[in-house]
Amino acid sequence: MILSKYIIRERNEATVLKEIVDHEGISRAQIAQKTRLNKASVSSITSTLIENHLIFETGIGDASSVGGRKPILLEFNGEAGLVMALDIGYNYITAILTFLDGKKISSVSYENLFIQKTNILEHIDKIIRQFELDMPETPHGVIGLSLAIHGIVSENKILFTPYYDLDQMDLAHELEERYDYPVLLENEANLTALAEYCFAKEYHSVVAISVHSGIGAGIVIDGKLLTGKNGQAGEIGHSILVPHGKHCPCGNNGCLEQYASNKVLFERYATERKLAFANSHILTEALKHHDEVAEKLVMENMSLMAICVNNVAIMFNPEAIFINSSVYRKNSRLVEELHDKLNSFLLKDIELRTGTFHDLATLYGGVANLAMNFLNIQELHLRHPL
Ligand SMILES: [Zn+2]
Repeated sequence: MILSKYIIRERNEATVLKEIVDHEGISRAQIAQKTRLNKASVSSITSTLIENHLIFETGIGDASSVGGRKPILLEFNGEAGLVMALDIGYNYITAILTFLDGKKISSVSYENLFIQKTNILEHIDKIIRQFELDMPETPHGVIGLSLAIHGIVSENKILFTPYYDLDQMDLAHELEERYDYPVLLENEANLTALAEYCFAKEYHSVVAISVHSGIGAGIVIDGKLLTGKNGQAGEIGHSILVPHGKHCPCGNNGCLEQYASNKVLFERYATERKLAFANSHILTEALKHHDEVAEKLVMENMSLMAICVNNVAIMFNPEAIFINSSVYRKNSRLVEELHDKLNSFLLKDIELRTGTFHDLATLYGGVANLAMNFLNIQELHLRHPL
């Protein structure tokens, strides 16, 4: 493959920038050592990055490590630009405005909405107008808008949404007509995984499993989201758990989410306890009071989730799997017990954790996605903003 000078320079620029983001204070000599670029190239690239306000010179480093004069250290400018990230539920929108590095500036949330293609642009516009009031001056201004979609997204288009009709419009295109920054659409479970990957230093590959009315997984391998041909990679709720089992709207029988979703868990608890409905709060209270029905149903759910986690872990070999479920989040011992149910020696090293962003993961995943895109760094790791 022949690479143009421009592509090589762009690549080298991203490599140098990544070193600076990773090290929070690094000298030009250290960058040259780590990247194996010559000192003249590092010097020229860092000058460009300083001109573009993406990095700045900071304190004086330790001379002893490289010898000679005490070097000037370089740091990433996390406030070089602004990011807006929205989570588009079928009856709510939550949104945050942050700096490029995820530091929060403001947030808004609207509930009891009825989101559809006829009103979505209006809702988004209202939020952007509101954020514009809080926007500080930054060198790059808004670098992008992220939308978390509860459905299947591929190549920035919404292909299928079970709860609203946004799959009947080209939302990214319509928004890019109105605003002059990139708009990135992504599936909510995928963004959850990107958040856990990007805002932690230690991972190369993670999976985040979202358990709500359905079950989905976001898979990140070396900073790259695994989406598949049509954005359907990670739709593990439709992996088959029970041969010839319960019918699923996807057309199959015995899909995992017909047995292990929170919706099923709540419905079963409500039925057995003759309640009008149940939710994670009611179930958590019941577990606190050692309600036998609640304990039995949660144990059953955990056994099924253990099968799900086992299969996902074997298939993708991530360092960590994050469980995003209101039931597991409110009862932290459940994740430990779930881990104990993983018997395979192949999984003895795997970390199993509850999500670290609670219900903000899709928003911070959006920030991560835009920052990766803007900085041209796929394996981007930033400091956890919460
Ligand atoms: Zn199914």
